[in-house]
Amino acid sequence: MFQDKVYDFAVAGAGIVGLATAFYILDQYPQASLAVLEKEKYIARHQTGRNSGVIHSGIYYRPGSFKAENTREGYKLLLDFLQRYNLPYRISGKLIVATEPDETDYLEQLYRNGRENGLENLRLLSGDQIKDYEPHIEGIAAIHVPQTGVTDYRSVSRQLAEIIRQKGGEIFLQTHVKKITPGHPAEIETEQGSLRAKNVVVAAGLYTDKLYGHSSYRIIPFRGEYYYLKSPWDRRIRSMVYPVPDPRYPFLGIHLTRHLDNRVSAGPSAVLALGREAYRKTDWDAKEIKEMLLFPGFRALAKQHAVTGLQEWCASLCKPVFAKRVRKFLPDIPTDALTGFHSGIRAQLVDREGRLVDDFVIQTRENVIYILNAPSPAATASLAIGRQVADAIV
Ligand SMILES: Cc1cc2nc3c(=O)[nH]c(=O)nc-3n(C[C@H](O)[C@H](O)[C@H](O)COP(=O)(O)OP(=O)(O)OC[C@H]3O[C@@H](n4cnc5c(N)ncnc54)[C@H](O)[C@@H]3O)c2cc1C
Repeated sequence: MFQDKVYDFAVAGAGIVGLATAFYILDQYPQASLAVLEKEKYIARHQTGRNSGVIHSGIYYRPGSFKAENTREGYKLLLDFLQRYNLPYRISGKLIVATEPDETDYLEQLYRNGRENGLENLRLLSGDQIKDYEPHIEGIAAIHVPQTGVTDYRSVSRQLAEIIRQKGGEIFLQTHVKKITPGHPAEIETEQGSLRAKNVVVAAGLYTDKLYGHSSYRIIPFRGEYYYLKSPWDRRIRSMVYPVPDPRYPFLGIHLTRHLDNRVSAGPSAVLALGREAYRKTDWDAKEIKEMLLFPGFRALAKQHAVTGLQEWCASLCKPVFAKRVRKFLPDIPTDALTGFHSGIRAQLVDREGRLVDDFVIQTRENVIYILNAPSPAATASLAIGRQVADAIV
């Protein structure tokens, strides 16, 4: 299939991060040969095609962190890209709502954080002022973040893929990468045959750690589950409403999001998934469960966060428990106002001590760059990450 060709560049994974990287590589090296290798029949089939579709402002991330810098930069690049290619998006702003007195200190910290991260026109709101933005939401204080928006990351990915092909890049679908051996050139074994490349980028989302090989890190899959608000309940949300997140976790909590198609989703939760692509509640993968149990970091994580883990399982298995979380800020919503079901799985890097790695992580072995941790908001930040990775290739 690859006919002994030595490519200048190969990218494993056609999610938004791999595609953004290929896009910038071809921008910098227009004469180069480039292959994108994707195991699925379609691009953007996993995290990129199953996320909340939110364009994040960067309010949450520690100033100076890789996440904060790339989200700020990625936000601008993404908006330029959406405008340039006439792709759909809407900047409608969001509220982060405190419903308990013990959440207000962290809310104020987020406000300061956001300002340090360069966000302008953030507003701290009292309980009454919340009604100016979202008349049906109950809370004791909130931040209004005007920069937040929604888009469709599948459309962005399709546009990136089209540009890559126009510039001579090749996208090989149904091409599962089994092994990468760094070297000059690097050897890439796929189920469809082998190829060689002078430089390789691995952006395989939930499976990047597998291609990285033995390491002190492991990707642990966390399923985010969503329901949709039935009419007329969906009319109670104008834009987006988020809770104050628990600072111990990199997840933002169940939020309400009005999407481009005007449906309003509630989610995502953060349930330990029994397989990296276990999208349904009943899905499991025996081999992946075994690998997870053998990783000391997973056992440490389970020990430290057993109670939260069980609470997430309860919300997954019992819809009234999920609905109770939505009722925190939409008090009178009945359980049967939640309909449908949709899920996405986060690729969350965990270290051997059981710490959930918060920041983006990129590692290099010789001529292979591995994007090991690119969780939310990596869709927003994808163009900044891709540009940075392309710049790092010499
Ligand atoms: C529930 C959920 C909600 C989220 N909400 C948001 C949000 O609102 N805003 C935001 O900015 N971010 C959000 N994110 C995060 C964002 O979706 C991800 O950070 C981003 O999509 C990561 O892109 P990726 O290309 O790294 O991974 P992916 O999209 O997972 O792409 C990886 C690709 O690699 C392929 N692959 C894997 N293994 C191999 C192999 N061995 N050989 C070949 N191909 C392989 C996969 O098939 C896949 O297509 C959310 C994520 C989830 C799960």
